Amino acid sequence: MKNDEPTVGRRALLRTAVFLGVAAAAGLVSSGGEGATPGVPRAGGAGGAPGAAGPGPNPAAGAPGAAFPQGLPERAYRLRPMTSDAPARPAVVQPAVRTRPILELPADASTASAMVLTFDDGPDPRYTPGILDTLARYGVRAMFFVCGEMAAENPNLLRRMVAEGHVIGNHTWTHPLIPKLSRPALASEIGRTSEVVQQTVGEAPVWFRAPYGAWNRAAFEIGAELGMEPLAWTVDTLDWKEPGTGTIISRVLGGAGPGVIVLSHDAGGNRSQSVQAISSYLPQLLGRGYRMTLPKLPPR
Ligand SMILES: [Zn+2]
Repeated sequence: MKNDEPTVGRRALLRTAVFLGVAAAAGLVSSGGEGATPGVPRAGGAGGAPGAAGPGPNPAAGAPGAAFPQGLPERAYRLRPMTSDAPARPAVVQPAVRTRPILELPADASTASAMVLTFDDGPDPRYTPGILDTLARYGVRAMFFVCGEMAAENPNLLRRMVAEGHVIGNHTWTHPLIPKLSRPALASEIGRTSEVVQQTVGEAPVWFRAPYGAWNRAAFEIGAELGMEPLAWTVDTLDWKEPGTGTIISRVLGGAGPGVIVLSHDAGGNRSQSVQAISSYLPQLLGRGYRMTLPKLPPR
């Protein structure tokens, strides 16, 4: 347990830093607070999504190049600091930012018969309780990547998840296509979701997952700043297409294997097939000797 303490402390510190960054982007705190948040990129700075900012009232925070005279050669602009009195921006936000999400459990003896069940987009009072009931029946823990707007409406389901040993992950507030968002908008989507989870269950998520599996660099950076690891999946049940309960079951059983992470959904549409399917595939997986587990946080 002791080994976790520095990591947890660092994650909490990073979360605080990013909340300040989100607040600054939203104009909630003065920019004078930036000195207390080393490593957090300036909101709207060069790290933002290119082309998304457009001309704004503050040229230094707007589109790259807007602060310099027209006609200045691109090369000269790149060599100049953003402002004369600002310290040089660090080359990287922090050393452990990933460039791709985790797709499966690492292959070792501890995961030889292990699989992970994950459920996205909820919680939804029509479907999430049925999934929780089945997990409880077999004493199995799973991961729920919740959307902030759903979490805010269903706090009791979040509390039930945690009370029953499940892990809550961050799946953004409104389930947007991340690459279409500006960096401040993305920071808000992810930051607000972590906040509502923390306020509801007392702990912020340490895992996050991009909607549609559409990751970009900003998502990895903001996730890391908030102390979260990016988790994708190995097997997609495509249950959101409502292919039939039998098809969902056969996709899970057919894709089963050591270290496999399964993606299903407990919200976002009619998920009655998903609820039905787990009551069948879960006991079959257990009967084949698989152990449903939760991923360990990799060292940072
Ligand atoms: Zn989703």
